Amino acid sequence: MNDQQHPVTSSADSLAALTPHLFRPLGAQGVYARTALYAQILERLECYITGLRDLGSEVLRFPPVMSRMQLERSGYLKSFPNLLGCVCALHGSESEIRTAAERHESGGDWTASLGPSDLVLTPAACYPVYPLVASQGPLASDGRLFDIEADCFRREPSTHLDRLQSFRMREFVRIGTPEEIVAFRERWMERAPRIAADLALPHAIDVANDPFFGRVGKVMAVSQRQQALKFELLIPYYPGATPTACMSFNYHRDHFGLVWDIRSADGAPAHTSCVAFGIDRLTVALFAVHGADPGRWPAETRRSLGL
Ligand code: ATP
Ligand code: ZN
Ligand code: MG
Repeated sequence: MNDQQHPVTSSADSLAALTPHLFRPLGAQGVYARTALYAQILERLECYITGLRDLGSEVLRFPPVMSRMQLERSGYLKSFPNLLGCVCALHGSESEIRTAAERHESGGDWTASLGPSDLVLTPAACYPVYPLVASQGPLASDGRLFDIEADCFRREPSTHLDRLQSFRMREFVRIGTPEEIVAFRERWMERAPRIAADLALPHAIDVANDPFFGRVGKVMAVSQRQQALKFELLIPYYPGATPTACMSFNYHRDHFGLVWDIRSADGAPAHTSCVAFGIDRLTVALFAVHGADPGRWPAETRRSLGL
């Protein structure tokens, strides 16, 4: 196979040339079918991450939808109302539903009859874990540790391969005392360069902020940065590219502890942290940096992925 068929990404154009190797279009921006080649590497990456998991982690896999009430109570509408996707449905009697659906057949707008349901599309993997823990009573003395994953949705349509509307997020989540949480996040930030080295990906780690909505959001972003609550592992997809955030290291302080009344063994509100792996962004990074043929990837990358 020659380089024409298996481009290594050196520019935005060659990144675009990679697309048919990885994705098939599904008629909406940032929503793709994954090819067998892509799915194989994604699976190997997932196994590699499983190998990093701390002993004693509780493993949970979440569906792509979650309780609307739980997300509202988490404060999502204050921070990212623009990104949220809500599940709507046709409610009412048989004849009401039929009338609405038939409006579509006659060229009318059936969506006017849609009403909200009790579900939203999960925007980040960890939101459902906090109410779940809260429902299980006070924390044990060493807190809780989770390995979770969900297919997430964010309403940020884009043609860029690193900004999807539907993407996979894996997270390690720690719930406990402030000391436990700070130690957890520090440890993962120390491990991050080794993860990038295992995969032979160029990287930088930098303080970051969430893209909070609107004018008030700008103030929230500044405060988050000043308090160094979020860091990201940044990977340039090609030399000179604006680097892509492929992992984030988040310290929520006592936000979820207070919202859900999760208490540490000493009775104080629990603190929480999550380490998020952007599974799709990391998978695309592997192809962008190393090319479309995993047979020709660096030995270190192949070893880490068990290829
Ligand atoms: P960005 O600022 O790039 O949008 P974010 O701060 O919104 O990222 P997080 O909320 O920290 O991202 O989500 C955890 C991880 O999920 C990110 O580090 C990234 O790898 C991945 N991710 C976030 N948004 C997307 C997206 N639209 N498409 C693909 N992956 C994403
Ligand atoms: Zn999280
Ligand atoms: Mg974002």
